[in-house]
Amino acid sequence: MANKSNISEGRRNMMAVLATAGLVSGLDGVASAANRDKEPAVTGGKTFYDPRDAYPRAPFAGQDQPWPGLASKMIPRPDHGEKSYRGSGKLQGRKALITGGDSGIGRATAIAYAREGADIVINYLPQEEPDAREVVALLQGEGHKVFALPGDLRNENFCVQLVQEASKRLGGLDILANIAGHQHYNESILTLSTADFDDTLKTNVYAMFWLCKEALKIMPAGSAIVNTSSTQGYRPSAILLDYATSKAAIANFTRALAIQLAPRGIRVNAVAPGPFWTPLQVSGGQPASAYSQFGANTPVKRPGQPVEIAPVYVFLACAENSYVTGEVYGETGCAQIF
Ligand code: NAD
Ligand code: MG
Repeated sequence: MANKSNISEGRRNMMAVLATAGLVSGLDGVASAANRDKEPAVTGGKTFYDPRDAYPRAPFAGQDQPWPGLASKMIPRPDHGEKSYRGSGKLQGRKALITGGDSGIGRATAIAYAREGADIVINYLPQEEPDAREVVALLQGEGHKVFALPGDLRNENFCVQLVQEASKRLGGLDILANIAGHQHYNESILTLSTADFDDTLKTNVYAMFWLCKEALKIMPAGSAIVNTSSTQGYRPSAILLDYATSKAAIANFTRALAIQLAPRGIRVNAVAPGPFWTPLQVSGGQPASAYSQFGANTPVKRPGQPVEIAPVYVFLACAENSYVTGEVYGETGCAQIF
């Protein structure tokens, strides 16, 4: 349980308000480990709340999973907006391919895009079928059109087939959200093998290149590509040498492609998240000593939850932001300047 003496008066008052509103079960309900393990979503549908207390904070229990990890096995479970995200027609009639759509930031984006009116295809690895099924069951249960196409993005032929099949299922393609990513920490360049380097660069950079290339054969003017960089792209950690390299590449790829495609009426942007609570972190992305304190050293003092970043992916995809292109949009809990 959180130490109640650490909770400021203001925070206590806010929690009392939330408790009165039925959002939490008691005064320390938001911050308590017991509560974290049950229902991470405390903001459902609310338009005003305190971001400091809205979601779980460290310490997080040890929970190493084999790669690629499952959201359904995380404690606490990440909040992808299953209960809280509400659409308002921002992507009505759009056709989106979302990689990494089974879990984490990709799942939150899939939920948001579908609820904003898009028909979607999600891609993920075959080992992640249980997570993908949760997404499909949730969204199909609400009447949205969602297709699940598993497969390994490190393979160029698969990337080509994925775009073609997605376009066939959706009747075209006008949003490509490249969210899949590979992050494995390694203490030293001397133990980082060529195979490790390949895994990271193939998943994070080559797949984006292959998918964009194929998608551009199909995408009409007005389409949007949204890539996923990271704060690691400009503030690298020593143990994420290959990953940080790939995320810097994604930022520059995004800017250069945006310039290339502006004359075709296709926008290209990237999101650069800070620390978000997702399976990637507990399945080799960080040592347990790091993820147990995940987000604690940001000024907001907690990691982000996937639901909190999905609106940025919506913002960058939707037509009303037609002058936004070539941008790398941070959402970091202030971590980028800290
Ligand atoms: P996540 O584990 O939920 O999602 C990553 C997804 O990548 C997996 O679900 C998997 O489906 C996909 N993937 C990995 N290797 C693949 C392969 N070879 N073929 C097909 N799919 C593959 O974790 P997440 O944190 O939501 O990651 C989403 C994106 O956000 C990644 O690009 C990651 O680098 C980026 N990011 C995350 C954080 C963070 O703190 N979580 C911070 C910055 C950037
Ligand atoms: Mg996953």
